[in-house]
This record gives sequence, structure tokens and C-alpha cells, in this order.
Amino acid sequence: MADLRPSVRLRPDVADMPAYVPVEPPEFWVERLGVPAGRLIKLDANENPYGPSPRARQALADLPNAQIYPDPSQRALRAALARHLGLDAGRILVGHGSDELIDLLLRLVLEAGDVVLDCPPTFGMYRFCTAVCGGRIRPVWRRPDFALDLPAVEAAAADRRVKAVFITSPNNPDGSITVPAAVERLLRLPILVVVDEAYVEFSGSPSLVSQPLREAENLVILRTFSKWAGLAGLRVGYGHFPAEIIGHLWKIKPPYNVNVAATAAALASLEDVDYLQANVARLVAGCERLQAELARFPFLHPYPSRANFVLCRVSKLPARQVWEALRRLGVLVRYFEQPGLEDCVRISAGTPAQVDALLAALRQIAEEHLGATG
Ligand SMILES: *Cc1c(COP(=O)(O)O)cnc(C)c1O
Repeated sequence: MADLRPSVRLRPDVADMPAYVPVEPPEFWVERLGVPAGRLIKLDANENPYGPSPRARQALADLPNAQIYPDPSQRALRAALARHLGLDAGRILVGHGSDELIDLLLRLVLEAGDVVLDCPPTFGMYRFCTAVCGGRIRPVWRRPDFALDLPAVEAAAADRRVKAVFITSPNNPDGSITVPAAVERLLRLPILVVVDEAYVEFSGSPSLVSQPLREAENLVILRTFSKWAGLAGLRVGYGHFPAEIIGHLWKIKPPYNVNVAATAAALASLEDVDYLQANVARLVAGCERLQAELARFPFLHPYPSRANFVLCRVSKLPARQVWEALRRLGVLVRYFEQPGLEDCVRISAGTPAQVDALLAALRQIAEEHLGATG
């Protein structure tokens, strides 16, 4: 009976596509490394170590309606976001994480062979979603200090197949910001400009949603509850979209994309902003301390960051070796097998106790691999 089925024909571009490399959950590492769950120090995904606000936890515990489908129009959450941010609710769409909104947007604009500009080193989802949607990525590399190369983006956008450019500010993995004047310049291009503000709450700079620029016809602003509000596991992000395109996004959105637990937790978070803001301030202070402490190791060279993580160049040892040695000691950081980042690790700002554990592990690695004066 083996060969009676016709072979399934896959899309050749998808068949040849490499898989996205996501971070693994703590349980995976607890088992793999044999460290007790309480001793694992997770600094690899820029998650908020303080977790959701107490009101969000209560809202989840009290969830009255898990048996009912969520509101496909997201009325309550869009209204609360509009109030919180001073926006028109008609321009807001909520996603199953901002990741889903990246995918939806690209489904809307890309035809086979169309081009998306991204500015690496940067977040991997733009590249990934572009490939899934049948588009092609054209990288416009950032400068050595991670600033955008604006003239190069403008030159690349002259190709009529280019449909969009993704700008991450603060950028992941280095934490540098793109100033509004640079975004304003890019908005003159005849393409969609998507500004991903996943970390804007840590940056000390206002979001573009609070600026007149937000009315540009080709600007999309993406934000998320994953980082500042500690809801990464519930998947809730949102965007501010041009009036001309948001109606079409609604047509292609999976009807029940944001579940009732995520909705309840996000609504409660917006009722607990002062609490969450205090944790943001703790993480900003933690990030500053992390930078200062890392710079004291002669083999580590942290970059300045306006987010809740630090990118750190490693000398004298391969970065991969530092990453693996930290992991054996129960400290997870992010390593990227990517051009321009092979000698770097990215470390999320943890609690003071987590940073203490990281620093102790780094001292041990310095002693073992570089001698006591490391
Ligand atoms: C973490 C992160 C996000 C968040 O995505 P969600 O799907 O909302 O969790 C978006 N963009 C960047 C650059 C990020 O680092």
C-alpha cells in the first residue's frame, strides 16, 4: 500500500525555506540542563521578569467567559487603547502578538516576488513572514553603530517591486533608536513604513502614536503588551494603521484572533499602568547597571541600549563559547548565528538577583577560560 498516494506538491519556496529559530521555554532547559526550575536565569527573550500586574493576574483568575468566543471586533480593548493613547479606535487593530500583525500586513501587500526592505541586524520576524508570504527580503545593513543607513534605504526603495520597509525602534538586538525625523524622511518614499515599537516604553522617548506623524498615509506603528506589561505568554500586540488599509486588514484577520484571557489581561493592565510603569523603571535601571557591570569585564563590550536588554560584543573568547558556558551554569542569554552578530550575545535586563547570578557566572567563566585576571 506504500506508494498509492500521489505525492503532495509543496510550494517550492517554502520547501526550501529554513525554519525560524525560536527560544525554548524554561521547562525545556530545566530538563536539558538538570538545574532546578527556581535556579534557571532566563535572560534570552527580553521577557519582563516581574510578570503581569496584580490586576491582570486577578482578571485571569476570575475569567468569566472562557466558553464564549472572543469579540471579533475587539471593541472593549480597542476602546481602552484609544482612551489610553489618545487615538481613534477606528485606526487600531489588535493581534495575537504583534507578530500576527506583521504577518497580516505582509499578506495584504505582497504579491509573489515583491520585495521588503529590512535593516539588519534586526528582529527576525520581518524576514520570516516575508518568506512565508512569498516575498523577498532585501537587507539594507545598519552602520557599525547600528544607525540606519537612510540613503541606502532610499536607494533600495527605487525598485518598483519594493512594497515596505521595517524599522525597529528601539532596535532588537542592540537597543538603538531611530529618531522621528528619520522616519519622517522615509515616509516620503512610495512604500509602507512599518515602525515596530515593541520596546518604546523603555526608551525614554515618546511613541510615534503620540505625534502628528502618525497621520501619514503610509505609516504603520506596531506595539505590544509582551514586554512592558509582562504578557508575552498571552500574545497580545496592536497596531495603528492608515485609514486606507485598516479595513482590508479586518477582512483578512482570523475572526477570533485575540482570545478572552489575553483581552482580559490587557484591559486590566491598562487599569494598572502606574504599577507596570514602576517595573519598567526597574528594568531601565537594571539595564543601566547591566551595561556598567558588563563593561568591567575585559572580554565584554556592551553597546549602549535604550531598551530592556544589552547587546554585548565578546573578545578573547568565541561568543558561542560564552553562551554555552553560561547555559551550563543555568543562565540563558541569546546567541545569533547571523552575519554581523557571531561575536555577540544579547542579555535581557533581569531582576537585580538575576543580574547578580549572571555576573557571578561570568566571573566564573572568566576565571576558567581566561585566568583570574580575565
Ligand atoms: C519581542 C518583540 C516583538 C513582540 O512581539 P509579540 O508578538 O507582540 O510578542 C515585536 N517586535 C520586536 C522587535 C520584538 O523584539
